[in-house]
Amino acid sequence: MSRRQRYPDNWKEIAFAVKEEAGWRCHKCGWQCIKPGDDTSGLTKSERTARTLVVHHANRMPEDNRRSNLIPLCTACHLSYHYLGQSNVSPGQLSLFEVS
Ligand SMILES: [Zn+2]
Ligand SMILES: [Zn+2]
Repeated sequence: MSRRQRYPDNWKEIAFAVKEEAGWRCHKCGWQCIKPGDDTSGLTKSERTARTLVVHHANRMPEDNRRSNLIPLCTACHLSYHYLGQSNVSPGQLSLFEVS
């Protein structure tokens, strides 16, 4: 079964604007994520993943791109938003994104 989501053509620009406005910080934990132009050569792949800011749809509807529906989150917070209260996430899946 496909869970393909319906993002708009200009989603990248929308998401970029949200991240810029947030100063590339996670809305939930305030963690500073990688900004465009940051030197990431010293980071491992998983560190880069953990420091990637994503734009989350508060109502889980990707076609709803009102600003109030768009929340910038770090990878860990994004996962917790999606998996919070669900029992089908394995600890290993989450620990991928843990940062020591
Ligand atoms: Zn966060
Ligand atoms: Zn999300």
